[in-house]
Amino acid sequence: MKRFLTTCVLVAAAHTALADYPDKPISIVVPFTAGGPTDKVARDLAEALRKPLGGATIVIDNVGGAGGTLGATKVARAAPDGYTLLLHHIGLSTAPALYRNMQYKTLDDFEYLGMINEVPMTLIGKPSLPAENYAELAKWIDANKGKINLANAGLGAASHLCGLLFMSAIKIDMQTVPYKGTAPAMTDLLGGQVDLMCDQSTNTTSQIEGGKVKAYAVTTAKRLTTPALAKLPTLDEAGLKGFNVSVWHGLYAPKGTPKPVLDKLNAALRTALKDPEFMKREEALGAVIITDGRLGGAEHKRFVEGEINKWAPIIKAAGQYAD
Ligand code: ASP
Repeated sequence: MKRFLTTCVLVAAAHTALADYPDKPISIVVPFTAGGPTDKVARDLAEALRKPLGGATIVIDNVGGAGGTLGATKVARAAPDGYTLLLHHIGLSTAPALYRNMQYKTLDDFEYLGMINEVPMTLIGKPSLPAENYAELAKWIDANKGKINLANAGLGAASHLCGLLFMSAIKIDMQTVPYKGTAPAMTDLLGGQVDLMCDQSTNTTSQIEGGKVKAYAVTTAKRLTTPALAKLPTLDEAGLKGFNVSVWHGLYAPKGTPKPVLDKLNAALRTALKDPEFMKREEALGAVIITDGRLGGAEHKRFVEGEINKWAPIIKAAGQYAD
């Protein structure tokens, strides 16, 4: 009898704790440096999530390195209580093909909370690069084979994937320079220490708009409508037939997070994505907010599984991996 009562008290306490969720700050791990495109999405989303989560404090924890796998590992190992979340991108699905010793299992170690947005990428160059458009860039690359370097945010980052696809499409290798995020990579590009980078429009739009970098093309199948980017050709149009890559972002919790907490987070995410301020900011940076079934955990997970299967053979064919 005593044991039964103790169990009842514990169950009741757990229910109260779940009903009160969140009653302390929530940390969203961003697996790249502060000031970069993933970080920007996370900070804007955190702002929009605050209200539907009852005014909760949401802090961003930047854990950059190893193309996003360090931050993802941190969340896979965190307590499954809804207070540590992960905001990650397409890199979650490319890492399994790139890393031989990953410390987490992409499909088993997370709860899939829903997708956030899709963001086009842009091919940009250092300000002093002597090429004003894609045709001139192609000639410059050809004339400087073996001397060109390409910045990225590490093996498995979106910038790495895009660079890999670009080099394989033009059949020219470049020296890749990894950073913990494309914020520091952008600083070096602006300073002329690296030549080229492929990065999300959420990081490049203002630099392109301000004429601070050379912009050559967008990576999506269609041209963009965002004013600063509308003049850029697609890489497909520029001659790299079929080139099409964009970066999706999603929200994750450690495996085993209680269902009522997941439901609260999913409902808050759906509300946040309709927040007018969030919508305005996303649109201005060329991002498209998810409105389809991938807003639900099951479809989100199916989509990521499809992405893992889509990118694995492409990455293997490029012969890239890390231990
Ligand atoms: N844009 C980076 C990437 O290449 C990540 C970041 O810094 O947000 O994946």
